[in-house]
Amino acid sequence: MAVYGLVEILDGLRSVNLSEADGLDLEAYLLDCGDRVVLVDTGMLPRDLERIGAELEEMGRTWKDVSLVLITHKHGDHIKNLARVKELTGAEVMAGEGDVADIEAATGVKIDRGLKHGDYLDVCGGIEVIHVPGHSVGNLCFYLPRLRAVIAGDTIFGDDLGNIHPPPEKYCLDVRTAEMEIRRLLFYDFDALLLSHGKNLLKGAKSRVRMLCEEVSFRL
Ligand SMILES: [Zn+2]
Repeated sequence: MAVYGLVEILDGLRSVNLSEADGLDLEAYLLDCGDRVVLVDTGMLPRDLERIGAELEEMGRTWKDVSLVLITHKHGDHIKNLARVKELTGAEVMAGEGDVADIEAATGVKIDRGLKHGDYLDVCGGIEVIHVPGHSVGNLCFYLPRLRAVIAGDTIFGDDLGNIHPPPEKYCLDVRTAEMEIRRLLFYDFDALLLSHGKNLLKGAKSRVRMLCEEVSFRL
């Protein structure tokens, strides 16, 4: 059973648990950058917005403080609330350039900037864009050097035991590419791996990801 809670997991970074009672484990993230708040992914249900709103309140913030929304990829559980989030915040919205057209078609929201691998956002101590294709065309991770953390979206899935896995084939556009390209994360220096689905790894995550890449290449 998932625990619903308002949790600051790293300095200024909060995980918002949007899980449903029936077991779909889903998280969005809020980054408090002092001068602004960044939201990563939107969830899909009206209730998810209530939870994100409650987390903002806990931070002493409101929706109006959210000035940037980053989307990890185009799947419904990450974007279905985007139109409402845009109304509530007026925030700039960015997503992987390969997913922009589909997100715009699905949500009616104009994406202000299509992101590509290596793009650097000068907010919150810097956010580096890691493009990891395969789960979707424009699937992204976000590297936060200040926190030595990677927000991985659906690039890696976790389970309740704290194990990590490639994304399940049934959710992937091209699962072999999704598996092979996880190795892109190894170019970054991180301790924490923050997932959309499954238990986060807050320490020692890079060596775990390296082991996962070795398992994947062994299987291929
Ligand atoms: Zn997905």
